[in-house]
Amino acid sequence: MSDVQMADAPKIAAGADPSLLRVDDLHVYFNIRRGSLLNPRMLVLKAVDGISFEVKSGETFSIVGESGCGKTTTARSILKVETPTRGGIFWRGNDLQNLDELETKAYRTSVQAVFQDPYSSMNPRMRVGDFITEPLLLNLAMNRAERRERARDVLVQVGLRSEDIDNFPHEFSGGQRQRIAIARAIASSPQMIVLDEPVSSLDVSIRAQIMNLLKALQDTQGFSYLFIAHHLGTVRYMSRIVGVMYLGRMMELSESEDLFNHPLHPYTQALFSAALPDHPDIERKEVLLQDDVAAPTDIPGGCRLHTRCPFAKPVCSQVEPEWKPVGPKHWTACHLY
Ligand code: SF4
Repeated sequence: MSDVQMADAPKIAAGADPSLLRVDDLHVYFNIRRGSLLNPRMLVLKAVDGISFEVKSGETFSIVGESGCGKTTTARSILKVETPTRGGIFWRGNDLQNLDELETKAYRTSVQAVFQDPYSSMNPRMRVGDFITEPLLLNLAMNRAERRERARDVLVQVGLRSEDIDNFPHEFSGGQRQRIAIARAIASSPQMIVLDEPVSSLDVSIRAQIMNLLKALQDTQGFSYLFIAHHLGTVRYMSRIVGVMYLGRMMELSESEDLFNHPLHPYTQALFSAALPDHPDIERKEVLLQDDVAAPTDIPGGCRLHTRCPFAKPVCSQVEPEWKPVGPKHWTACHLY
């Protein structure tokens, strides 16, 4: 696509905030109905319960945590699928809640997403070219021929053939379909891509190819990634900064290598203990949590990990630990520090 065509795409003004995306004290609660028809109870499910972080230009910020920790709800809020209950999400300093229609269009052009299962988001009767060019329909300055040219261009960028534009999704393997999803995500030249478990459903060898492709695209085109994953090796390979979430809260946040070499929070240590080491000779501190994770409708008071934590002290059940710095670019929330 020429610069002229991209200049015609909708835009959003940059505020004074130096970060590309800033999540500030984000809370996302859902009211859910439980009990019987005659005796209904309303519960509050705290999917995200007060998290803050920022994604800088050209960087990968990863969120890691077990299923149900709130990482996908965070991603959905950033994609404007969920609305914050409290707190805010700021894009180039602008609160997403306050964007007008034109600015929302610009935001949707600037922030794209790739999900775990690309096939479920593809219409099996839609040709690949139409799937890839769908986000470009927001750019009214582009005609159909220009959109198709862009689709051919991005297909080649993700390692497929420009002729694949007229094929259907079922004609591709799982790894190729993920390449098509990436082609769609980069077609509008976004600034940030939300990658929600993008390689979890792929074989190990294909997984490495897709991660290398994502890294190469970032190097050449400067995309920022918000990378959501539960596989620690993948997170370590992809990220510069990693946040560890548990029951809707950030437990620890650090530069990737520091976090993997010196995890401080008992939850991070337990998460790493439960994963296979990169090499069988690597010795690691064994930290095992007790019981199962609490329900997000019934989060324990004090430190939310205290019912499971092997290091819990009396204060842990009483007082929620503060979020504090424990090293250069390393924060945690735990009474041990
Ligand atoms: Fe464990 Fe207490 Fe730290 Fe929570 S605050 S992680 S219960 S030691």
